[in-house]
Amino acid sequence: MAVIEVNNLTKKYGPLEALKGITFSVDEGEVFGLIGPNGAGKTTALRVLSTLLEVTSGTVTIYGYDLVKQPDKIREIISYLPEDAGTYKNMKGIEYLHFIAAFFQDERRYQMLERGVRIADLGERLDDRIDTYSKGMQRRLLVARALMIQPKLAILDELTSGLDVINAQTIRRTVKESAKEGTTVLLSSHNMLEVELMCDRIALINDGRIVATGSPKDLKAEYHAANIEDVFVEVVR
Ligand code: ATP
Repeated sequence: MAVIEVNNLTKKYGPLEALKGITFSVDEGEVFGLIGPNGAGKTTALRVLSTLLEVTSGTVTIYGYDLVKQPDKIREIISYLPEDAGTYKNMKGIEYLHFIAAFFQDERRYQMLERGVRIADLGERLDDRIDTYSKGMQRRLLVARALMIQPKLAILDELTSGLDVINAQTIRRTVKESAKEGTTVLLSSHNMLEVELMCDRIALINDGRIVATGSPKDLKAEYHAANIEDVFVEVVR
């Protein structure tokens, strides 16, 4: 069942048309990736779907809610992780997770906290201040923040950008596990290897347009390519 339906979506910043009519859908429980080079429009698309930017034209529904008419309903069921997300540096990691869980006043907050601790996987370092964390540790805490609440939809921008192999792998595994547990995931990346490892389906985006959509396996077969990078080069040629 499709839980995200994007139809002919455009987004303009003044005269610049960053999204030129994109159409795609995402099924429940899928990990779906928007892939493309710098400036292709990935962040713009994710910010529009997260209700942070206004739609210029086109329609979007998320779990049946209309993005323009029912943004509050959508905010209740999504979790958005920006590429450059920050935390409260003078808090301890564990305090930050408590702070997020405290938004929920019912029993669920204890489960969320436990889940956050597990996802962040920072061991005793959770008791240290966040400003002593490496970039990878901070990102793991932020991924924990985004996924601990078990959102229906997680929107994750450049999930592992700038991280080393170990941190990137840990985060990818966590996100895939969350998808298995019922969170639908929409992510962006310019790392073509990452999307092959993680995504059930991807949309290749270039200069504000989706130029191909499918599973990594099907796209490689269709374009007789060894990897997604080669598919991309073939499609935009
Ligand atoms: P990157 O991988 O570099 O983050 P991206 O695929 O996420 O790129 P966007 O950040 O969505 O791409 O940018 C798409 C286009 O919109 C680019 O031409 C960019 O310069 C432009 N753009 C993005 N944000 C704004 C803004 N606030 N005002 C004006 N133009 C913008």
